[in-house]
Amino acid sequence: MSSSLRSCAIAAKDGKVAWVGANSNAPNADRVVDASGLIVLPGVIDAHVHMRDPGATYKEDFRTGTAAAAAGGVTLVFDMPNNTPPTEDVEALRTKAKAAQDKALVDYALYGAITKGNTGEITSLIGAGVIGFKCYMAETTGSVAPPPEAELREDLALVGRAGRRVSVHAEDDSMIRQRISRLRETGRSDAIAHYESRPGIAEEKAVRRAITLARYAKCNLHIAHLSSAAGARAVRGAKRSPRGSRSDVTAETCPQYLLLDKEDYAEKGSMMKSNPSIKRREDRLALWTAVRDGTVDMIATDHAPHTIEEKTSGASIFEQASGFPGLETSVALMLTCVNRDLLSLSEYVRLTSEGPAKAWGLYPKKGCIAVGADADFTVVDTKREWRIDPAKFVSKAKYSPFEGFKAKGAAVYTVVRGCVVMDHGHVDTRSRGEMQRPQ
Ligand SMILES: [Zn+2]
Repeated sequence: MSSSLRSCAIAAKDGKVAWVGANSNAPNADRVVDASGLIVLPGVIDAHVHMRDPGATYKEDFRTGTAAAAAGGVTLVFDMPNNTPPTEDVEALRTKAKAAQDKALVDYALYGAITKGNTGEITSLIGAGVIGFKCYMAETTGSVAPPPEAELREDLALVGRAGRRVSVHAEDDSMIRQRISRLRETGRSDAIAHYESRPGIAEEKAVRRAITLARYAKCNLHIAHLSSAAGARAVRGAKRSPRGSRSDVTAETCPQYLLLDKEDYAEKGSMMKSNPSIKRREDRLALWTAVRDGTVDMIATDHAPHTIEEKTSGASIFEQASGFPGLETSVALMLTCVNRDLLSLSEYVRLTSEGPAKAWGLYPKKGCIAVGADADFTVVDTKREWRIDPAKFVSKAKYSPFEGFKAKGAAVYTVVRGCVVMDHGHVDTRSRGEMQRPQ
């Protein structure tokens, strides 16, 4: 199916796209959604979210998190494994899958963790249906310790043999720890100290290491939340290296790295604290280049809710929680970028539907509008102007570094396998999401 815009009607049956054609020939249906004046996009996929369920459901759970997805226009979320307990064995995966099955309103996929000591669990996690794996190369929320390198090589080889992909949080742990202790010693507690503690070169070092290890182990690699010019250069180099010496590398970035930079810390403080840190203007502009030249394959949110107390209390920026909610803002923020001519609508669809579906083995069941594909749609009004108001979020986390942002564009319907889950902001809590496994 081409990525061009056309005027048509779409019919869904049993959760699948059954027919696409001229409106005048449309078959009868139980429910008709009039999308005139709107644009029907393939369902938006967010391959990086933290539902905090199980273990920290006071921050978010599968019900509130997937309601936030539906409200924002997201039809499928991939949940990260840094829970309590971490998703590092089949028992933990089943516990999480049960929570998701009971509560999810949109479709979901679950990552397994690659962590110290779980090599023996990797093959059974693949059999149990994980979408892929996540490996943290630096300390972050939750306790998912990176494995020693010899063990990591073995883990990557196991995943590679099964044809699955490993997403890495690529920041160099020892560089960051040393920087944090130096900044603390000099009494720094401000938000910019967080930026200084996690420089682009720490990302670059870890990205290059991950690329080398993945090539050695013949494993498909994904770089999560790319945040720097140096990191983007490393990914671009790997993608362009000659055949034979190249491994399959994909990368994501997030709206916050494309829209915010160092200049915003003074105003937004810990509200924009995230790992990796939001970096300089030069990094932001380099990420836009990477988005346009295909270095970046997908936009994800890294939806990472915490309580407002966790975000704001504590003696210094280093005690305040990293991450913020993103599911209710990402579609609107990126459509605003389309309206600003920073990318085209078809590039947006590549980054938000086709890209993640292909990278994670779900295409063409997900990621396109074609007969036989799942009837997942994000129906958008690209002209709607509104101001982001976190008080109205359905996520448990009712704050955002984008509070007050003037958006142009919004999702008005979210449709998952033919069911309207969100209609003009109203989320249908009778909807039921399904777990997605690689095809
Ligand atoms: Zn994350």
